Amino acid sequence: MEKQKAVIIGGGITGLTTAYYLQKEAEKTGRPLDIKLIEASHRLGGKIQTVTKDGFVIERGPDSFLERKKSAARLAKEVGVDNELVNNSTGKSYVLVNEELHPMPGGSVMGVPTQMAPFVTTGLFSMQGKARAAADFVLPRSSAKGDQSLGQFFRRRLGDEVVENLIEPLLSGIYAGDIDQLSLMSTFPQFYQVEQKHRSLILGMKKTSPAPTNKDGKKKGIFLTLTRGLQSLVDGIENQLAPDSVLKGLRVEQIEKDENNRYSLMLNNGERLEADSIVVTTPHPTIPSMFPQYSFFDHLKNTPATSVATVAMAFPEEAIKKDIDGTGFVVSRNSDYTITACTWTHKKWPHSTPEGKVLLRCYVGRAGDEAVVDLSDSQIEKIVLQDLNKIMDISMEPEFTIVSRWKDAMPQYTVGHKDRLESMQNNVRNELPGIFIAGSSFEGLGLPDCIDQGEKAVQNVLEYLS
Ligand SMILES: Cc1cc2nc3c(=O)[nH]c(=O)nc-3n(C[C@H](O)[C@H](O)[C@H](O)COP(=O)(O)OP(=O)(O)OC[C@H]3O[C@@H](n4cnc5c(N)ncnc54)[C@H](O)[C@@H]3O)c2cc1C
Repeated sequence: MEKQKAVIIGGGITGLTTAYYLQKEAEKTGRPLDIKLIEASHRLGGKIQTVTKDGFVIERGPDSFLERKKSAARLAKEVGVDNELVNNSTGKSYVLVNEELHPMPGGSVMGVPTQMAPFVTTGLFSMQGKARAAADFVLPRSSAKGDQSLGQFFRRRLGDEVVENLIEPLLSGIYAGDIDQLSLMSTFPQFYQVEQKHRSLILGMKKTSPAPTNKDGKKKGIFLTLTRGLQSLVDGIENQLAPDSVLKGLRVEQIEKDENNRYSLMLNNGERLEADSIVVTTPHPTIPSMFPQYSFFDHLKNTPATSVATVAMAFPEEAIKKDIDGTGFVVSRNSDYTITACTWTHKKWPHSTPEGKVLLRCYVGRAGDEAVVDLSDSQIEKIVLQDLNKIMDISMEPEFTIVSRWKDAMPQYTVGHKDRLESMQNNVRNELPGIFIAGSSFEGLGLPDCIDQGEKAVQNVLEYLS
């Protein structure tokens, strides 16, 4: 019997997950399946990239994932790297508003208050701002039935000041997006559901957000990473894949369907590859040109993606003259800073930094403010140091700096994303049977969300092929 052929395009975490679980299922069921993973670059991992240097473990892209979303830790266990999993150290975090660092009010969940005392006493908001937020207790539920922007939702419930000084900087840290464009239903539908169920967002969040604790009752970090870096997860998966199933340094340029619903993939080296089923896991801007005959992918050309850069700087401890108790801060748009966030990585992730050293990791670039990403490394380093110096009084040049640019890398789920996605997926089902689209541009960009999508794609492929 001729083997069926499944091709996965893209070797980021979505494609790797798909390849791993598909191979596992085929082996388990004895199903004759030829699997190929095609990756354009010469390495796997996509946005996951760890650099180890002088005893430091530095993430160029993602640095961790949410523990409560189980699929990432489960995958780490599957591929034998779970012994490296560590939670972040907890500590104070701050918001920089109008040039001043304010501790994050205790009990806030994504900026939504769940405890009153810290909100009443914080210097983050004026009296009027606090009074406006308290209107949440009496405001009726939203009557909006369709999607709305995160900004629209939170401004209505809590007022502009809480949004601008707390919620926007926090959410920007995740999506690098414009809160007034991002879709509520595709990013944080749970807030909509809390409002529908409890009416007041504050009271509803208070009821639904237990404090994370260890078995011994101590507060525990909500993120996980791997002590040798997230690249370790990538390597762990690669080690499990049949070596001849991974093709690196090859780009899929176009895909054609024949009359029997079989597919032919044209590669950049002029070769062709045949497939019965394909999982496309590449970023959304790459997809329309793979399928030029299908106009239902055209909207992806207009889906925005923000550029950011991460800037990791290593110092000796004595370089920091004004040490701040905490693990990092985010920056509000009303502050005259270029950095949008900074993690004191040596405190949040102690394994990442040798004794006696400090590792700071900053972000630059966000929606509407991305030109900085195109500056040279030394220009970016200078700007970041100037910003940091306003807060921390740094007396030395860094021992080294690693600038990582991520051009058009943060897909923006703008209002209506879900409907557009559903319509695209319906068209794909009808006109391109056996093709499945997954990855960070579609149903969540956190690592566990990408892994979930990979797992779902495996089920879709197996169902289709049988
Ligand atoms: C700076 C930054 C920080 C982040 N921080 C976090 C974090 O802390 N926690 C978290 O959970 N998430 C974080 N994210 C999000 C998360 O990293 C990504 O959403 C996720 O890694 C994307 O995985 P993916 O497989 O969908 O896509 P990618 O990683 O983009 O992989 C797609 C792959 O497809 C390949 N490719 C493209 N075109 C072709 C082609 N034509 N043919 C073949 N191959 C092709 C690319 O080379 C790439 O390897 C962060 C993202 C960035 C950019």
